[in-house]
Amino acid sequence: MKISPVEQLFTVFNETSLVLQEELECTFLEALAETGENIFQQSILQEELSELNVKRLKKQYEEINLDKFSKEDIRKAFQLVILKGMKESVQPNHQMTPDTVGMLVGYLVQKFVKEKSFRILDPAVGTGNLLTTVLNQQLDKSIESVGIEIDDILIRLAFINANLQEHPVELFNQDSLEPLFIDPVDAVISDLPIGYYPNDLRATDYQLKAIEGHSYSHHLFIEQSVKHTKPGGYLFFIIPNGLFESEQAPQLREFLKQHIIVQGIMQLPLTMFKNKNAAKSIFIMQKKADHIKIPKQALLVDMPSLSNAYEMDNILRKIDKWFLENKES
Ligand code: SAM
Repeated sequence: MKISPVEQLFTVFNETSLVLQEELECTFLEALAETGENIFQQSILQEELSELNVKRLKKQYEEINLDKFSKEDIRKAFQLVILKGMKESVQPNHQMTPDTVGMLVGYLVQKFVKEKSFRILDPAVGTGNLLTTVLNQQLDKSIESVGIEIDDILIRLAFINANLQEHPVELFNQDSLEPLFIDPVDAVISDLPIGYYPNDLRATDYQLKAIEGHSYSHHLFIEQSVKHTKPGGYLFFIIPNGLFESEQAPQLREFLKQHIIVQGIMQLPLTMFKNKNAAKSIFIMQKKADHIKIPKQALLVDMPSLSNAYEMDNILRKIDKWFLENKES
């Protein structure tokens, strides 16, 4: 039986991670970062391994030559092994952005950002899955990308993910709500971490700090992202559907009115989520600048289940029509 390239890569990533996990007595995700680094460097970097395990790893690594795999095959295989590792233990807020969402964000970036060469930021880059899904869809573009992530192991995985796919991503391991030393970007994409931000002192730097108690980290992320976007740049956030229903929503509305133009909201299919309260949307905005064309009306789309080809076709036509009437005329 012929196995697919993704299966072939998955097997090598998975089996070599298991060997390293056992010998290094670490978590599966840490072992995956180690094996990814070995594959990228084409060498076995862990000095403490037994001879037998070195042989086993070498044999497995020789079975794959990354040049023969597409970036998407590498991304998908890496994503599947991470998902396996995340089953061991992962907080809900650390979850990787699923493929379907990444594909839609990638499609939107391609529709909205017309420059041939641009800078993109993901301030909650996690494993880099969303960022590289988006990058892999921007054909014939020259893109500089920046990713920021607070979690040490996730950023290591993002680093290896980007290296294996040959995407030169500039990565920072820090709290994105602390000052950022990056040049302004043309686009931001982010699957926002939702919840309270524990650092009340830092939150006082933000217009969107809570009047009382902890601030919402997703609100502060939006403000920080807008700050680092060039005038006229676009922002694509994955947000909870209830974003505008919280007690802090009036402040958020006011901030958005001052700084951005809402371009659209794409509600993701409910079937993708455990329940209605967990459902999310993609929020598309543009940072204000002189001479920006304001859409006659925002693009409002309720995505059908992505397997419904007929409905999907209708929606894609509706989106094209909106672009013709609001952006291209
Ligand atoms: N798009 C990512 C991917 O494909 O793997 C997943 C994003 S996940 C929903 C949100 C991420 O935000 C988590 O990886 C979490 O560690 C990170 N995060 C939470 N608070 C942060 C902060 N203050 N600064 C930087 N990253 C943060």
